[in-house]
This record gives sequence, structure tokens and C-alpha cells, in this order.
Amino acid sequence: MKKSPLCKSALSVIHIDMDAFYAAVEQRDNPDYRGRPVVVGGSPDGRGVVSTASYEAREFGIHSAMPAAKAKNLCPHAIFMPSNMEKYKAVSKKVRAIFERYTDIIEPISIDEAFLGIEDRDSIEIGRLIKKQIKKELDLTASVGISYNKFLAKLASDMQKPDGFTIIRPEDVKNILPGLPIRKLWGVGKKTEHKFHQLGIFTIDDLLKYDRKFLIERWGNKALDLLKYAQGIDHSKIETSREAKSIGEETTLRENTQDKNELIGYLKMFSKSISSDLLAQDLKFRTVTVKIRYEDFKIITRSKTYKDPLYSQRDLYLTGKDILQNRIYLHKPVRLIGMQVSNLIYPNEPIQITFQDII
Ligand SMILES: [Mg+2]
Repeated sequence: MKKSPLCKSALSVIHIDMDAFYAAVEQRDNPDYRGRPVVVGGSPDGRGVVSTASYEAREFGIHSAMPAAKAKNLCPHAIFMPSNMEKYKAVSKKVRAIFERYTDIIEPISIDEAFLGIEDRDSIEIGRLIKKQIKKELDLTASVGISYNKFLAKLASDMQKPDGFTIIRPEDVKNILPGLPIRKLWGVGKKTEHKFHQLGIFTIDDLLKYDRKFLIERWGNKALDLLKYAQGIDHSKIETSREAKSIGEETTLRENTQDKNELIGYLKMFSKSISSDLLAQDLKFRTVTVKIRYEDFKIITRSKTYKDPLYSQRDLYLTGKDILQNRIYLHKPVRLIGMQVSNLIYPNEPIQITFQDII
């Protein structure tokens, strides 16, 4: 079945950007630093640069990539700290774990930023829940942008930083975009911005009114992309890093349920269709995963991995049933159930033979 054209304008993309991430983590862990200018990065006495400045430090004109020595000139009483990447990575993992409760379509852009894909659900509600949980569980703030494509979602998250929550709906584009400075378009860095300024193009509106032919002759495909962004058009997909090396099925239930037998019935149905897919491609599997989404949209997945590959419908069904019965709480109604096999063994994959095996 083809998706209706309406889907294109659904608010299916959330962009989440942690606010002044490294500095915020340090302020969280050193309460004395809260409310004070904190600069994370190279030493102000050396040649290092600023990684992140807290919002208090930004008021002195300090920003990332600025030489730390210059930052010290601007604000001699700022607290300078070296970056603690191990710590920030650990926090970033926890942020991701919160995302994973709501979606498995996640494209991380950097340690503190990601796109999330939310299909056929209320992205605004999910955005609010994620923001709330980041605050409650990690004591950090994030800015959330929601729209119908990646470019606009990222633009939105930047509009009310810090601690922002911004939605750009299709009807908002005409009001928001034209007045923005040209550097807000993806692909416009300092150099391009400078060239546009020389042409008298300062805002997105200036660009849209400029001679298209000239722009395309001069910048080629890049100009075409910029003109699309300038109108709020972006067809790029959310790129999840995880390779889709799995076969699975899921379904949203007609009515939410807590009935175990009903859910087991779905697993039986999935086992049948998944194993016929496996058979068609001559695949075996080692891992079975059951996924549940509760009525509050929280997702949990539970997996079981075998040492030796399996392939039968019966093994698949019994494993799924075992996971559901023993490892998933049905303490609140379920709205979606899914089942997946992964760690697939391909037919021509040589079985690894170790020296011991030969002996
Ligand atoms: Mg950030």
C-alpha cells in the first residue's frame, strides 16, 4: 500500500540538541560552577581552543573554536576546564538510551545531537517526554526541534536555545524562513556566506529573489540544494547507522491489550511469516528479539541469542513466547508488538573452522 501524500507534511522528525553539552555536564557535576562562566577545552595558557562555553561564558563573547587564551582575555574570571571525553561519552550514551525508549530510527550527528524519526505517532508528545526525561534523569537540558524534515527540525531546535521546544509546521515556513540570515541554510559556511554578502544576499529571502540562473551557473547543484532548503524542502532520510541485517515484523494493535495469550497469538503469526522469509532466502538466525510498545509509547526490547544457529518456525515461536512470558512485564496495556531475528547466517557463509576443530 502506498503512503498518502499527507505523510510528507507529518511532523515526523525530531532534532535534539543538548545545550552547551560539555559545560553543562561540568556544571552539573560541580554545583559551585552553576550560574558561572565555564569554558571547557584547551588550557588558556597554551594554544588550545574552546570546545564548549557555558551560556554564562557566552555572554562575554566566548564561543567554541575560539583560542582559549582569547577567551581568558574576554573573561579572566571564567572557570577553565579540560575536556573529559570519557565522561561526556558516558552521558551521551544515557541520552541515547532515552531516545531508544521511543524510536529505533536514530541518526546521531555528534556526541550531543541526533535526529529521531517518529512515524505515525505524536512526535510533539514524544519530544516533550524525551526532554522531560533528560532533565529528570540526567539533570541536563536539551533543545528540541520538530518538523516534517531534517533541515527544518534542526533549524527549529536552534530557534529557542537553551531549553527550547520549537515546532515548525508546513504553514509556518513562509513566515519563519525568509527573514533568516543566509548562513542558516545547510552548506553555507563562512566562505559561502561571505560570497553571498558580496552579492548583496544577506537573508534567505534575498537568495530566493536573486537571479536563479546566475546562482545555478555559479554554484551548480549546491545552488539547487540551497534553493530547496530556502523553501523548507529537504528530502534527505534519517540515516540509522545500524545495518538492517535482520528480518522482522511488527503490528500496532487494534486495541491496547494486557492479555498475554493474545500477544502470544501475534508471535505465532510472526513466526510463521518470518520463517517463510528465512526459508525463501535460505537463512538461519541466532538471535530473536521481541519488542513491545506500551500505551505511553515506551518501547522495550528483549533478546535471546543462541550459540548454534536455528531456522525452524517452531524454535522461533517458542523462543519468542519464552521471552514474552518470562522477560516482559505486562503491567500496562500494550499498543504494539514486534518480533525480529538477527545475527543471520547466510547460506554461503563459510563456517569458521578453528585448528582444534580440524584435530
Ligand atoms: Mg549542542
